[in-house]
Amino acid sequence: MANRIHIRDAQLVTMDQALGDFASADILIEDGAIRAVGPSLDGSGAETIDGAGMIALPGIIDAHTCLWQTVLRGYVPDLWPGAYYAKLLPLRSRYTADDNFNAAWIGGFEMLSYGTTTVVDYCHDIRGPTFAPASIAALKETGIRHLFTYSFMPVAPDAFAGPQDRLADGRRVYDEFHDPEGLTTIGFGVESIGAPGLEQQLTFARDLRAPSCIHVNETGTIDKLVARGLLGPDLLVIHGNLISNPELERMASAGMPLCFTPTADTQGTPADVVRRAIERGVDVVFGCDIPCTVASNTLGELRVMFNVQGYLDGAMERSFSTVLGRRPPVRPGLPLLTPRRLIEAATITAARVLGLGDRIGSLTPGKRADIVLIAKGPFGDSVVDDACAHVLLQTSPRDIDTVLVDGKVRMKEGVLQGFDARRAAAMVSDSRRRILG
Ligand SMILES: [Zn+2]
Repeated sequence: MANRIHIRDAQLVTMDQALGDFASADILIEDGAIRAVGPSLDGSGAETIDGAGMIALPGIIDAHTCLWQTVLRGYVPDLWPGAYYAKLLPLRSRYTADDNFNAAWIGGFEMLSYGTTTVVDYCHDIRGPTFAPASIAALKETGIRHLFTYSFMPVAPDAFAGPQDRLADGRRVYDEFHDPEGLTTIGFGVESIGAPGLEQQLTFARDLRAPSCIHVNETGTIDKLVARGLLGPDLLVIHGNLISNPELERMASAGMPLCFTPTADTQGTPADVVRRAIERGVDVVFGCDIPCTVASNTLGELRVMFNVQGYLDGAMERSFSTVLGRRPPVRPGLPLLTPRRLIEAATITAARVLGLGDRIGSLTPGKRADIVLIAKGPFGDSVVDDACAHVLLQTSPRDIDTVLVDGKVRMKEGVLQGFDARRAAAMVSDSRRRILG
């Protein structure tokens, strides 16, 4: 007998162009896949979830977060003076594999609680062969879908004899855990430009057809990658504040995406790369980046981005305007980021960019059932019928009611399933004792 779930009478944002949205409809799930979407479906024999008064969306996808930092939540409240590099990253020398487990376990549940159903966990805390398996085991326990990104960045003291040993470990992790039919896929984080191993690391990932990412914090990095013939749609550029416009044009022609992390990337940096990238046809996705600074709340980061972009758009518009008054005139193309466009970026676009577009990112029959249900009450629904605007501008994390990943209910009526707050607290204090002394 198939395992069936019937979500009834929810307002649906499907992110499927052919299907469109529904003021009220059902979703029928069978063995973890979306079987049907539409009004009044026959759900006989299925477990029922009452979606009345709720908006159902495809699960939110976070394209870049370093979950290993979760046990050090709040350690870097102020990014400006450079404590991230000077104080936080050196603490990795004190991490054990258990700390990676604890951090990914708590971080995975935290993300689920905010409606994030897929995380790209960028792990640059791999000091030996037990570290990546520990993180992956924790993510599996939480039930969040994950693209675990094995970073080749060396961390001292390093149990690997050298770069070849680290590559071999990456291969072992890929062979053991990569499961495109399940919740775990494996990608790689290549070192920054200038590192001697960069080209070999990228070739290694490409031989496996695994996606990679690269941190780009300077002007000229993309040009250097172009010179070596290394651009490609499988290499996600992270941050990228200082990428020049000609470089963005080269990224667009190579189909190469950009991930912007709103809170982290607006602390002392210009943040105008999102507009410059989108205008040139680069796909832009978003992530939370650094749990040591900000909660792993992807929808919350989309809200930050909505405000940052509105501010930048307003400043730009005013610089062209001679009209005095509170509101500048609005030219075509403004504002750049509507709530729908931001939620699209974190669902259908992120799924495509990460190579998961055939499985997740929209409420399309045949795809896996990664779904978030957000309550419109108790204070009333929006007057204007724009579900994305309601989600982004009129709700908060307390309204996230039900979260499904791969057809399994991971949060029900606001309560995480399988999460033990006392266990989490003990994990945090154990890890902090070890790491902070
Ligand atoms: Zn990063």
